[in-house]
Amino acid sequence: MFIDCHAHIFFSPIPKKAVTEDIIGEIPTPTTEFINKMIFNAREKDVSYIIGVISNPKDFPCYQKQLELEDIIHVIGISRNNASEDFSYMMSLLQKEIERKVPHGIGEIGLDYSFGSSNLNESEKNTLKKKQQFLFRKQIQIAKDNDVPIVVHAGYGKDKDIVDIIKQERAQDVGGQIHGYMSNKELVSELLDMGFYFSFGYLHIIEEELKRIIEITPLEHLLIETDSPYHLMKSPKKFILPEDVVLVTNEIAILKEVKTEVLANQVMRNAKELFKF
Ligand SMILES: [Zn+2]
Repeated sequence: MFIDCHAHIFFSPIPKKAVTEDIIGEIPTPTTEFINKMIFNAREKDVSYIIGVISNPKDFPCYQKQLELEDIIHVIGISRNNASEDFSYMMSLLQKEIERKVPHGIGEIGLDYSFGSSNLNESEKNTLKKKQQFLFRKQIQIAKDNDVPIVVHAGYGKDKDIVDIIKQERAQDVGGQIHGYMSNKELVSELLDMGFYFSFGYLHIIEEELKRIIEITPLEHLLIETDSPYHLMKSPKKFILPEDVVLVTNEIAILKEVKTEVLANQVMRNAKELFKF
């Protein structure tokens, strides 16, 4: 039995520029037919749970639909990519969905200063940073109010700020999943000491630097994910889907020198402990 610890079952369309001619297989489209097939194919490969993350307020209406699906663990939150949008309006939308049903986690939240900042001057960049940090802090509070963990995007540098905010807001009281972590090895132990779990995907098994992070993460704090459907496999060049968590689990098992079954069971235990299901 496998679990995909981070996937976007309901997602915004893949940008056209990301779809090149050499891609094989189906291009993910947010239709009911595609979503059902994606879940079905995962089940066929023994992926019995998927943690479904909805983190664009535009996709919030899908939360209700996701609640109807079986064996999906629900995570909802506002991504740093939406930080420049109307804060109070987004918060009211989020609260409405939480009132519908308290999710298993708040996410994905976090910081990514590179997003949407290429045309900004220094002071505008600074304002955007501040907005991302404010949004991150507020959502840590929401997670604490509801006693659920956070799911943190911590992919692309500036993770010192993430760790500082986590400490200042005492996010370790609820704990969480550091998803898709790709930087600063030095901060890993600090986050592990606070009880956070690290979640690894396809990129971590193909890049040497990222393999080092897997090596230093104890099995008891390890989760495995696909972040479907936004990433491409190198060879064959196809979009990564929840069923591919089997491949990632196999590769991480080799790296950790344990049997796939042992690792899969441990990841399931970890996910159940963190997300309480
Ligand atoms: Zn994601």
